Amino acid sequence: MNSQPPTTTTDTGIPVSSDEYSLTVGAGGPNLLQDTYLIEKIAHFSRERVPDRVYHVKGSGAFGYFEVTADVTQWTKAAFLNKIGKRTPILARISTVAGEEGYPDTDRDVRGFALKFYTEEGNYDMVGNNTPVFFVRDPMKFPDFIHSQERMPDNGLRDNNMQWDFWTLSPESAHQVTVLMSDRGTPRTLRHLNGYSSDTYMWQNAGGEKFWVKYHFKTEQGIQNMTDAEARAMKAEDLDYHRRDLWEAIGRQDYPAWRLEMQIMPYEDAADYRFNPFDITKVWPHKDYPAIPIGRMVFNRNPENFFAQVVQAGFEVSNMVPGIGPSPDRMVLGRMFAYGDSQRYRTGPNYGQLPVNRPLGEVHNYNKDGPMRFHHHGNQPVYAPNSYGGPKADAQRYRDPSWFVESAEIMRTAYQAHRDDNDFIQPGMLYRDVMTPTDREHLAGNIAWHLKQGVEHFIQERAINDYWARVDPDLGARVAREIGLTAASR
Ligand code: NDP
Repeated sequence: MNSQPPTTTTDTGIPVSSDEYSLTVGAGGPNLLQDTYLIEKIAHFSRERVPDRVYHVKGSGAFGYFEVTADVTQWTKAAFLNKIGKRTPILARISTVAGEEGYPDTDRDVRGFALKFYTEEGNYDMVGNNTPVFFVRDPMKFPDFIHSQERMPDNGLRDNNMQWDFWTLSPESAHQVTVLMSDRGTPRTLRHLNGYSSDTYMWQNAGGEKFWVKYHFKTEQGIQNMTDAEARAMKAEDLDYHRRDLWEAIGRQDYPAWRLEMQIMPYEDAADYRFNPFDITKVWPHKDYPAIPIGRMVFNRNPENFFAQVVQAGFEVSNMVPGIGPSPDRMVLGRMFAYGDSQRYRTGPNYGQLPVNRPLGEVHNYNKDGPMRFHHHGNQPVYAPNSYGGPKADAQRYRDPSWFVESAEIMRTAYQAHRDDNDFIQPGMLYRDVMTPTDREHLAGNIAWHLKQGVEHFIQERAINDYWARVDPDLGARVAREIGLTAASR
């Protein structure tokens, strides 16, 4: 350890004479405006925060690497995936959705699963969740959904009534709510959960062939959850239980790892697949599209500065490298705007220059100036076209990923339903065919407990009759029994 600590300075590096005392007129006199070190210190303190994310506020971060374990060049030309054994540095942020910074980690919630791959062709962000589906399928309903999970406008309290009102009036949420109300809604740690793209993306190989894909990051630690009672008890014991667990595991070199498995659908299958494959409230059943292992991800380094590297980390759905593109999934298309917009709002238009957000390679474009701009290429042209050697787009090598759209009128309408599309089929399959008797019992109990917390009678009835009984009659009956609804009132 350095025996002589450095001298304290102002933000401009000027040595200061005291860490303890403000400048005053005599020992008992007033403070002086000319104490610019004190003023700088207090003014900086008032500005320590940037606006929170509107949702996914509380997250934990880790650095690590992704390694390719199978040849995927038949499906994508993405350079970071082009060789078995190739490693790409990554940043991960796993978050709760509805609570603020400081909210209990073990609250029942979906967990965000955001990854940034620092590739040789720019940053690739995969911004998913720990569930394979989502609550809504159209971005028009997204702000309404988030509002329903957050706080009431008058008293500032979270409100189960608002949550169940929204869910039961939005039948497409049934699949995700089934997963949320199962014990997967209360993961034991951030190491014991899976990550899913949930959304559908496009992969394109060097020959131009296109595929629709879904990402599944399977925890090598195994899925482990808390029961509802354990999760509620942990709220009182340690609000930061998940963040602490991840930090400590990495600190003791017990590095958590995930296997990346891909579901890959040939481009042509989408038109006639039995479910609309771009509807994020549905999974692609494994027997139709088996999950193919292609890589491994390891978290092996804790952040050195939480604010700089986790709070200010910006993940953008639109950050896709050549060989990876969006799909007609409306949620992907809506999210491609939302995430960059959120970062521009939170940290300004130059957030991409922050070390954690900066790509490995150089950035060349004609964006100029703005708050906190600190990177420049010297005397280069600031407009295109130009005669002075400025960067030039390469239309030969790079094309925007695309798909055909039937000639149709511009309209606001529901997704095109495919023959098996029904909001209750897949959650019903999960309940009947996948869950164990214990899972089913916990699911019914968790739903009942949640429904008993301040939910109005008519919404409880709707939740039983129009929602859970349609997922599965046995589940509807169990929940009704547990919340004490009589047969007559049903
Ligand atoms: P499968 O039997 O092939 O797959 C079921 C999958 O469900 C498992 O692979 C596992 O996925 C997941 N799972 C297991 N236990 C639970 C649980 N208690 N709660 C939530 N998920 C669990 O069947 P299908 O592919 O035909 O899917 C049937 C149902 O399984 C779907 O309706 C969906 O609800 C659920 N599911 C399907 C996934 C898919 O992509 N096909 C992915 C996850 C869930 P994992 O290893 O990812 O945990």
